[in-house]
Amino acid sequence: MTKILSTSIFFAAAASVAAPAMAEEVNVYSYRQPELIKPLTDAFTAETGIKVNVAYLQKGMVERLQAEGSRSPADMILTVDISRLAAVVNAGLTQPMESDTITANVPAQYRDPDNHWFGLTTRARIVYASKDRVADGEVTTYEDLADPKWAGRICTRSGTNAYNVALTSAVIEHHGVEGAKTWLEGVKSNLARKPQGNDRAQVKAIWAGECDISIGNTYYMGKMLSDDEQKEWADSVRIVFPEFEGKGTHVNISGVALTKSAPNKENAVRMMEFLTSPAAQEIYAKANFEYPIAPGTEADALVTGWGDFTADDVNLMTLAGHRSDALKITEEVDFDG
Ligand code: FE
Repeated sequence: MTKILSTSIFFAAAASVAAPAMAEEVNVYSYRQPELIKPLTDAFTAETGIKVNVAYLQKGMVERLQAEGSRSPADMILTVDISRLAAVVNAGLTQPMESDTITANVPAQYRDPDNHWFGLTTRARIVYASKDRVADGEVTTYEDLADPKWAGRICTRSGTNAYNVALTSAVIEHHGVEGAKTWLEGVKSNLARKPQGNDRAQVKAIWAGECDISIGNTYYMGKMLSDDEQKEWADSVRIVFPEFEGKGTHVNISGVALTKSAPNKENAVRMMEFLTSPAAQEIYAKANFEYPIAPGTEADALVTGWGDFTADDVNLMTLAGHRSDALKITEEVDFDG
């Protein structure tokens, strides 16, 4: 009896000594900020016991993965904007993965047809309209932004910013390259000032009376409302969800991809399945006032209060394919000039 007991104590001790080397973990390269990611990684670790190590990058993800090659510790990448996902995929740094869970959780337009990336949340690129100077129904489409009735009334950030490049890519998808170029020229001729600043700076300009409408992402409304100084700017505008005529509202995504070398592939797949789950998406969407995409999920009450919209159903990889044309015509019309 004594002997059996001491043997089992020995095995228990050996197992605990060996544990660190066998610790389950997953390594993530993220372009998104810690405050958005931490609640999710904590929930994942609590559920699975898998430790999540996140490297927060400002830029250079493609170059870093290329330099590390097959020795890269990264298992998965996490970012916003389809162009950034596409850049990593197109550089050959990811691998496809098939998962029934993810297929069920992520609608088709928000995942790669070849299964190299998956969306988690969306944000719409919309119009912020002055409550005082823009009537209900005065702006309803993206096409309308090129109408001379807006002369001197529109503010926007640089045309080469990723958000605007994606929007211009959507214009290309619906109207062709020439049509999109004409649209950009029309929008440019309606600008109240040269493109400058970020999306929130445009709402500030509406508040200050410099322009009447601006182009921006939905979640900035939530961010401005949470900021003492910016709340006034937010209160001076309302969100309008423009559509492409007969289509829907332009959205972009946050998403994930499995790296080609993924040393902890199984854990990464598990984490990606977790991230696409309805519960995780609601946590993640709420953290940045975004929209979860899994069937049956809902955005936070503040966000749903901005109104309903139908998202344009073009596959985002198609949009990413228009990126170089979009940049080219933005420079040709000297949009920022
Ligand atoms: Fe942003």
